[in-house]
Amino acid sequence: MPADSQPSLANLLQCPTCRSSLNAEPSALVCPQCARRYEVVHGIPDFRPDPPEGPRHGDLCRQVIERWPTSTYRELWALYHGGEPDALRRLWDDHEERAPERGERRWGEIIRAAQAVRRPLEPSFAALDIGCGMGSALFALARRARLAVGLDILLTDLLLARKRFLEAGVANVAFLCGSATDLPLRDETFDILNATDVVEHLPDQARFLAEARRVLRPGGVFFFNSPNRFSLFSPEPHVRLWFMGWLPRRWMEPYVRWRLGKPYRSKRLLSLFELRRLLRGTFGRDFAAWAFIPRPGPLGALARLADALARPILPQHNAFAWKS
Ligand SMILES: [Zn+2]
Repeated sequence: MPADSQPSLANLLQCPTCRSSLNAEPSALVCPQCARRYEVVHGIPDFRPDPPEGPRHGDLCRQVIERWPTSTYRELWALYHGGEPDALRRLWDDHEERAPERGERRWGEIIRAAQAVRRPLEPSFAALDIGCGMGSALFALARRARLAVGLDILLTDLLLARKRFLEAGVANVAFLCGSATDLPLRDETFDILNATDVVEHLPDQARFLAEARRVLRPGGVFFFNSPNRFSLFSPEPHVRLWFMGWLPRRWMEPYVRWRLGKPYRSKRLLSLFELRRLLRGTFGRDFAAWAFIPRPGPLGALARLADALARPILPQHNAFAWKS
């Protein structure tokens, strides 16, 4: 492999505010154009927009930053989750050990979605997981791409993810803290984008899709999923209230407050109609949306039939878009 074929993260970055190249200083990236300074926290550049109020790092985040150099992933993970040792051990065994397996399952879904629209995936130069959290999907992406990048708005999650991958000896993974609607990344950089349950949390969903398309290389693909606003078979996943998606949007907040006594903010579940309109606005005709990701075989044919009939009211949307 020629030396220049390994993508380096520094070459993929740009200022999310003014889109200039950045200069690297020992503990920060600095924009020569707009003079913004982005701190690098234990190897993770922090591109978050300035928070409107309060300290930049919450208590837990500060603790994780402090203990990061001398703690194992499992120690940081226990700090993050808190609770009794027995309960923590069970959670670890149930959830944590299977993270690579969950990543492979996600990869299987991306492959099936690509096959269904006859866009077979090429070996990838660089893959991006938007809203990566602690990075389960990145296990699978890092095995297929020369560089796998995880982006999230939560620095604490990223610090855990970075420790996890360092301990697992996965070297071609990098993490960025930033907003999905202002990606700190250059145009036409990635062949594969994944976003698991992200779009419903964003206030400007059209801008998110436009940013995703901007960083895709020609021929690249974008796979994401999102809960269906009009699902008849599952409650609203964040507050577990049935059928609230059928309310007019302006009634949702007061309804949740009345039922649960808590706010309902930063969530905008999409109907199939809204999702398709959004995708069409950015990707034209280059997209497909299903409730069940198509499978081959007789069971797959049955699922495709059910999908065609019931897609508007099934629990989840799976969307696949590409850049020709
Ligand atoms: Zn700038």
